[in-house]
Amino acid sequence: MKKLIAPQNEKRVLLHCCCAPCAGAIIELMHLSDIKPTVFFYNPNIQPKGEYLRRKEEIVNYAQKKNIDFLDADYDAFRWLKSVEEFSQEPERGKRCERCFDIRLEKTVSYADQNNFKVFTTTLGVSRWKDLDQVISSGMRASMKYPNIFYWDYNWRKDGGSQRMYELAKQEKFYKQEYCGCAFSLRDANRFRQSQSQPLIEVGKNTY
Ligand code: SF4
Repeated sequence: MKKLIAPQNEKRVLLHCCCAPCAGAIIELMHLSDIKPTVFFYNPNIQPKGEYLRRKEEIVNYAQKKNIDFLDADYDAFRWLKSVEEFSQEPERGKRCERCFDIRLEKTVSYADQNNFKVFTTTLGVSRWKDLDQVISSGMRASMKYPNIFYWDYNWRKDGGSQRMYELAKQEKFYKQEYCGCAFSLRDANRFRQSQSQPLIEVGKNTY
């Protein structure tokens, strides 16, 4: 496997993580490339709180297993909601998601700045359900305010990254979330299920 080189050849990277399934293959690839990730968990978008705690528990356990530093940022769900509520009816990949990415990556780069990280990146773009260009634009926008910090815009899906993500999720029997994360995405996923006469999502139930 080809080793990756982070911007500025940095060996220490702040990795914003949305969940364990999306993080597994990225962490593995960084380790194989002799890069030390620090997991930064800041996802105030996730509702209900039981789902938030379940996703966090899974990535905490995985970070411990891999002996990786884990940073737990605030669950300021109210502020997140106030920031995106004007876009409550937007579809996934629309303006609400753009703002959601901005909120999370602005917090990540701010932490990087205060804690001497030169490079940050995110797991947000690894899922095929996300608009990768939207994620990259958010990361670049966040980093523009900090001239000495670089957003690593690597496409973690390529060179078998997506496949490895699913392999690891099954191997680790990670918790499998059935919707993106916010209450609006849960609403829309359930509306779709209803239209297909499928059972509604049961939070906290399935694993890979
Ligand atoms: S659908 Fe996902 S990315 Fe979009 S606003 Fe909701 S949680 Fe954020």
